Amino acid sequence: MPIYVQGGWFIGALLFIFGLKGMSSPASARQGIVTAGYGMLVAIAATFFIPGLQNLALMLAALLLGGAAAWISGKKVQMTDMPQMVAIYNGMGGGAAAAIAAIEFAKGDSHSLVATSLAVVGALIGAVSFTGSCVAWAKLQGVLKKAHRLPAQNAVNVVLALVSAALGLAMIACAPAEPTLILGFFVIALVLGLIVTLPIGGADMPVVISLFNAFTGLAVGFEGYVLGNPALIIAGIVVGAAGTLLTQLMAKAMNRPLSNILFTPMVASGGGEAITGTMKELSALDAAAMMRYAAKVIIVPGYGMAVAHAQHKVWEMTAILEEAGVEVKFAIHPVAGRMPGHMNVLLAEAGVPYDKIFDLDEINAEFGQADVALVIGANDVVNPSARTDKASPIYGMPILDADKAQNVIVIKRGKGTGYSGVENALFYTDNCRMLYGDAQPMAGEIIQHLKTMG
Ligand code: NDP
Repeated sequence: MPIYVQGGWFIGALLFIFGLKGMSSPASARQGIVTAGYGMLVAIAATFFIPGLQNLALMLAALLLGGAAAWISGKKVQMTDMPQMVAIYNGMGGGAAAAIAAIEFAKGDSHSLVATSLAVVGALIGAVSFTGSCVAWAKLQGVLKKAHRLPAQNAVNVVLALVSAALGLAMIACAPAEPTLILGFFVIALVLGLIVTLPIGGADMPVVISLFNAFTGLAVGFEGYVLGNPALIIAGIVVGAAGTLLTQLMAKAMNRPLSNILFTPMVASGGGEAITGTMKELSALDAAAMMRYAAKVIIVPGYGMAVAHAQHKVWEMTAILEEAGVEVKFAIHPVAGRMPGHMNVLLAEAGVPYDKIFDLDEINAEFGQADVALVIGANDVVNPSARTDKASPIYGMPILDADKAQNVIVIKRGKGTGYSGVENALFYTDNCRMLYGDAQPMAGEIIQHLKTMG
């Protein structure tokens, strides 16, 4: 390969790595994603300089089509729909890796044993990731509403995995493989992705998407080896490693081992500890007064704040409270909202300084000294039954200890449950008051009252 093409790919790969480094902090994340984008641009541009390249028109058409679709969908997507967007893009990456392998097998060119083996492994995980990510998209988008579980689900999974592995081994042993063998291998791998993902519930889906993301990275890396393309190898390894770490972090944050997420569905049991007490309402005026005369307020944002686009009003309210001498901090649960870092992104967008935003481990001990915990559209992440109710599907998930504050104010629209479908014992406790309404107008009302309090 000419040095200028190799050089272009190398620069592209370096930019991916710098981009990923930038994404490790909210302050530099935006720049990180732009840097990685330039890396992709350089890597693609370099590819066009490969001597003797064929199908240029087809390549350009694919670039235009894919680029336009990504541009339009990227501009239009709501922040709350981001997980399904990630799922579908991820699936495309896995599908592309599997398609590259399929073309290589179909060409029947002879490759080394290592290259053929990597192509087969990449094809298998790419195909699984493709159909699995499509199911994940359909679930998060609400197209597939129910988890579908076969009678002997885990046995079926194992059989399909073994058959696809056996077909893959046969392809390596008989390379170049017969078209029927190649077809059979891909059909089983695609079905495996579907069957494994269909029974997994929506609440576990982000972890699964992250896992498929890691798979896609690996598949792309393996196919990069087969094609002799270092940019694909490096990008694939970077995505594979980052996806694996994120998967582990998310599983830990939900206190669910990965095996449990994949093979044991999370269901709202309906049973569990009975909740006693009643939900008690308060007015926006009372909420404003409680916070205005507090020494310390901890705000817990959740999915509802994202839906209501209330982050700007929440920051405006915070600034007024701080001006009045109240100490205000934000407590962020690792799985608050619908994607990792969801709340951090929204608060950063509203201009909340990073030094006011604290992770679960950093802030939990402080709830005991807070006069008010203001829960805005969060539910599961502050549900105390995760600590005590062994029958609860969220049992064991570390939660934000909002219930330990002197007073808890919860802004939500009604009596809706959280994502897990579980009732929240916090709302019925003596120190908790409900402020019913959409988070944005409610934050607005509190601001109006605060302004009159001087
Ligand atoms: P939840 O989904 O548990 O609860 C959100 C609450 O917000 C609901 O109870 C709802 O109650 C309320 N709400 C909805 N819309 C509004 C609105 N416009 N104004 C005010 N309130 C509103 O959110 P959490 O953030 O507490 O927890 C996240 C959950 O999502 C966890 O179970 C987590 O495992 C799961 N998850 C996390 C992902 C991640 O990566 N972060 C991805 C996918 C799932 P009401 O209807 O009464 O208003």
